[in-house]
Amino acid sequence: MMQVDAKDTDRELSPVEDQGKGADRELSPEKGPSDKDVSGNAVVVLPGDVKKVIKTLEDAGYHAFAVGGCVRDSFMGRKPQDWDITTSAKPEEIKKVFKRTVDTGIKHGTVTVLIDKRGYEVTTFRIDGEYTDQRHPDNVTFTEDLEEDLRRRDFTINAMAWSDSKGLVDIYGGTEDLKRGLIRAVGDPYERFGEDALRILRAVRFSAQLGFEIEEQTQMAAGQLSYTIAAVSAERIREELMKILVSDRPYYLKKAWELGITAAVMPELDRCMECGQNNPHHMYSVGEHILHSMENIASDPVLRLTMLFHDMGKPEKKTVDKDGITHNKGHAEVSAKIADEVLHRLKFDNATISSVTRLVKWHELRLPEDRTAVRRAVNKVGEDIFPLLFPVKIADTMAQSDYKRAEKLAHCARIKAIYEEIKRDGDPVTLKDLAVKGQDLKDAGVAPGPDMGRMLGDMLNEVLDDPSKNNRDYLIGRYVGK
Ligand code: ATP
Ligand code: MG
Repeated sequence: MMQVDAKDTDRELSPVEDQGKGADRELSPEKGPSDKDVSGNAVVVLPGDVKKVIKTLEDAGYHAFAVGGCVRDSFMGRKPQDWDITTSAKPEEIKKVFKRTVDTGIKHGTVTVLIDKRGYEVTTFRIDGEYTDQRHPDNVTFTEDLEEDLRRRDFTINAMAWSDSKGLVDIYGGTEDLKRGLIRAVGDPYERFGEDALRILRAVRFSAQLGFEIEEQTQMAAGQLSYTIAAVSAERIREELMKILVSDRPYYLKKAWELGITAAVMPELDRCMECGQNNPHHMYSVGEHILHSMENIASDPVLRLTMLFHDMGKPEKKTVDKDGITHNKGHAEVSAKIADEVLHRLKFDNATISSVTRLVKWHELRLPEDRTAVRRAVNKVGEDIFPLLFPVKIADTMAQSDYKRAEKLAHCARIKAIYEEIKRDGDPVTLKDLAVKGQDLKDAGVAPGPDMGRMLGDMLNEVLDDPSKNNRDYLIGRYVGK
């Protein structure tokens, strides 16, 4: 049985699901790097550098094609992230043909060719060897045959190659699946997911980026094998997860839950999907609220991660009062703790972990609408992330019921206006804004040490209340007594 069928809450995908659907989408729209030839067939318009790389290889007697994501994106009118080139030339041969190259992954057949300042990954046609760890092939074998190289690729839409001399090579029906909006494994999906479990998460990632459905057999296999993704490295999972989160459809993370992927890599989300809310402020389960909140914020890694984690502490803190109303008092602290655990587990960088956990911790911050309170809050929360709390609070509010929504948004706008006044007027909010520095205290005869730190803290405390007191002579006179 697929895990999809085993779930009983909030199963329906929201209307965003339909954005990507629609049979027979038009290939190669007006905009974008693809075009049509005289007979109306979609063609890929290669950038000059890519043409140059392919032509150089062809002139040296090898086959060469643009392949994978760049061909797919060209046909969809999306701007390719990068142009990957596949060739019959072996790595040593590639290096002989081009003046400037970098050994990127010689063992796997990849050489980076530098044209001006840009690098293009050129990879030898290859057959992946046996997969014994569901992660990477034990070895790769180079081949002269493009078809064999295309066969090792994950999805039909990613298994197309193009060159100006040979045109499109599409042996697995990639163009048809592009038109239908389908993510379909190349060959037997059980086999393909069995070789590399990351492909299961990649299916969801491409579906989120492109608004595509996952083809039925592919989806069935993904659901049955999703538990195997626990063996994939944290780094690879993190990369794909982030691509889902910053895509146009972060809500599609729900597919990862439906397929049992999050159960294997982020069970904290599953707990939220199963945690109902009966409270006038809410209309969704905790998990649905989280998914919708991500749709309401800009496509930025820190902001999307903040929304992902902001309410994850709710299941642990859930209480039901005598009227049957659910509450989750103190959940923000627990959510921040969970964010810290999960982000470390997925090996995120320290800067991201710091920003996200602090934003999660403070997302429930309530402030009176006055300048002193806002200055104190900026000091406590941190100047770097304070302004990010506004989009976070708006995204949170917009994913709640409309109960008191207008008031919540208006309050948020007033706090923001106060914050902007504080910035405009340069009110002191941290020690670095204080008119007195450590050196001033030394000059005034105060010995360095904890007392000096305390003195500066007291001074800041006073000027947070009254910025007009942020005057060196006044502060030294009052606190040092000279
Ligand atoms: P993006 O635009 O996000 O870079 P992409 O399709 O180029 O998308 P990459 O991860 O850069 O994705 O991979 C490049 C190509 O390599 C893919 O299009 C696919 O053909 C192949 N590929 C990448 N990862 C795998 C994998 N795990 N299994 C099989 N083929 C893969
Ligand atoms: Mg790519």
